[in-house]
Amino acid sequence: MIISLKMNPDTEQLENLKTWLTNMGLEIHMSQGTRSLVMGLIGDTTVVDTDLILALDIVEDVKRIQEPYKNANRKFHPDDTVITAGGATIGGGHFMLIAGPCSVESREQICGIAQEVKAAGAHMMRGGAFKPRSSPYAFQGLRGEGISFLLEAKRETGLPIVTEIMDVSQLPLFEEVDIIQVGARNMQNFELLKELGSVNKPILLKRGLANTLEEFLMSAEYIMSGGNSKVILCERGIRTFETATRNTLDLSAIPVLKELSHLPVMIDPSHAIGIARHVAPMSLAAVAAGADGLIIEVHHNPAAALCDGPQSITPAAFASLVSRINPLLQLRAEFQ
Ligand code: PEP
Ligand code: MN
Repeated sequence: MIISLKMNPDTEQLENLKTWLTNMGLEIHMSQGTRSLVMGLIGDTTVVDTDLILALDIVEDVKRIQEPYKNANRKFHPDDTVITAGGATIGGGHFMLIAGPCSVESREQICGIAQEVKAAGAHMMRGGAFKPRSSPYAFQGLRGEGISFLLEAKRETGLPIVTEIMDVSQLPLFEEVDIIQVGARNMQNFELLKELGSVNKPILLKRGLANTLEEFLMSAEYIMSGGNSKVILCERGIRTFETATRNTLDLSAIPVLKELSHLPVMIDPSHAIGIARHVAPMSLAAVAAGADGLIIEVHHNPAAALCDGPQSITPAAFASLVSRINPLLQLRAEFQ
């Protein structure tokens, strides 16, 4: 990290800054230029709050040379992280396909869809029991009962399950859940992330609607710094000025995240585009761009779905999509 100081800095303030930084275990190298004074910091600068330094009267500018995340950084972990959950694997060349309805609506609904997506080739099943809805009057999910229906579907089909947690207090209900999802709206719920840092289960972390990739990786860092290194990053569309689609799928997140981090990167084309008939092309584009997995909303009767019907594809459309994903994955493997 480099701190450029203003001309003729107040000596007392400068000494205070130096003491503060040295107490954080950092080594300071001063260089005096003709018109400026520059401090070079050596050591673990992830602990330094750049905004705090920038607010000091004597400071002109602060620049990080190294990223503020350590555990998620590929520099310190060159190999891809491979994560296994209930027998399904993602990362390091393993592709994970997750499918299922937006929300669990009944035992029959989730068990029926689970059978169909399994037959089509899904490795895991999704279904929300706790639903973060924009309206308090919309269906909020079956909550604990929803989790028990998911577990029944898991027992019937053998498919491992992923479902969303919204609050730390719900954690005891997630004992038999294979992957815990943190939704876009909770990407910066830091207390929840910290708690998940001590859970021995993979976390599917979705990118916030308006968060940068660095903020996304810092949220992964919250979980990882607590001791849980099993984080799957999921891009699910961000808010832009475009209104023709629900969100804008940021496919560029795939190569960028995979370069910056060793964590697996998954794409959710359903929440990104929000239009069922466009889910297939975006899924294929994500595979072509190098995604390690896809999470797709599938409903047996999208028109009657209690949540996200317009973006849900039918089991038949999902089966047809899988038959196009597989040859593309083979082709991709040949080019890598
Ligand atoms: C979901 O997966 O059902 C969901 C609510 O996703 P997101 O957090 O990406 O909106
Ligand atoms: Mn949904």
